This record gives sequence, structure tokens and C-alpha cells, in this order.
Amino acid sequence: MTGRTHDVAAVAAVSLMAFRQPLPPLDAVTLAACAVATFTGGLAPDLDKPGSSLWRRLPGGGVLARVARPAFVGGHRNLSHSLPGGVLFALLARAALLALPEGYFRPVPVWTCFVVAYVSHLVMDTLTEAGVPWLFPFGGTIGFPPMRRWRIKSGGWFEHGVVLPILWGVILATWRAHLPEIIALLRSLGAGAH
Ligand SMILES: [Zn+2]
Repeated sequence: MTGRTHDVAAVAAVSLMAFRQPLPPLDAVTLAACAVATFTGGLAPDLDKPGSSLWRRLPGGGVLARVARPAFVGGHRNLSHSLPGGVLFALLARAALLALPEGYFRPVPVWTCFVVAYVSHLVMDTLTEAGVPWLFPFGGTIGFPPMRRWRIKSGGWFEHGVVLPILWGVILATWRAHLPEIIALLRSLGAGAH
């Protein structure tokens, strides 16, 4: 899947997760940090590929990608595209959030957005031809549907013409169904700014 599809999938997954229960009160900084965590988590598994979207977005990403390369055992779609890798990244994200100064934003919603977005990446890549080694280093790659030729070709017409519109549909339907909550949240942000 392309970086753009992973961005949209991450927003869809986080939207579905966020509205499963009434939204907690959120301040502007936490909301902005949630957005950063969503886009970071949605692309983080592809840090195993130099030149991937997240490396390109980071200042000095080209150099950093080369430095980090040995950490990604086996190259693209290995550790970082697995459940053990997901747990590792979740712990790293937790450590990074705990290292930040306290009191500026609420870390739990931010961390949750990162983890949900990360999992969305693995789910989306499972639908592609190459599949994902969910249980790395054990077992091979797992894909859905089981027949490889029925899976999605990364960057192909099906991804752009069918998958992306479906994901946008999920986002818009979720936001539309929870519009009063979204408006209340934005109003509370406005009230907090005074
Ligand atoms: Zn990937």
C-alpha cells in the first residue's frame, strides 16, 4: 500500500476507535499530538524501508534511514510488520511519551492513536500480495484472502480506485454519524482558547 493509503487507513481506524464510546474531553495540544501519533503510527512499520513516506517526512530522514537500517532484521516487511514488532514500537512510543515534559497533553489518547494506527498498517498490508509476517520470526507471511492472486497489488488501480474511496467513505460516515460530538469538541477547544 502507498503511504497515502496508510495515512487514510490510519485516520479511518482511529476514527472508528475514537467514537466507540463518548469522546473524552480533549485539549488542543492533545488533539494535535493525537493527529501526529496517528500519521506516525500509520507509517511506522515502513521505517524498515529507506525512502518510505515517514523517512521522507522526517528532517534528515535519508541519513537516519541508513543509520537505522541494521535495526530492521531481514529488511522490508519483517520485524516491524509483525505483532512482536508492534509491541516493541508501542513500548518505544510509550517511552518517548513518558520522556516528554508532563502536563502539556494527555499521553494515553496519543499513545492509543499511535497503536491503533500501527495495527491499521499491518491489517492493510495483510490485504496485499506480499502479506505480512504477523508472528515474525515464526511462520511465514500471512495474507488475506488466502489466495495470493486475489489480494491487492500495492499501488495498483484497485488500491486507488476501490480501497481509498472505501476508506474515505468510512471516515466520512463515522464523522457524519458523530457530528454533534465533533462540534461539541471543537467548541470546547474554542472555549479553552479564551
Ligand atoms: Zn508496510
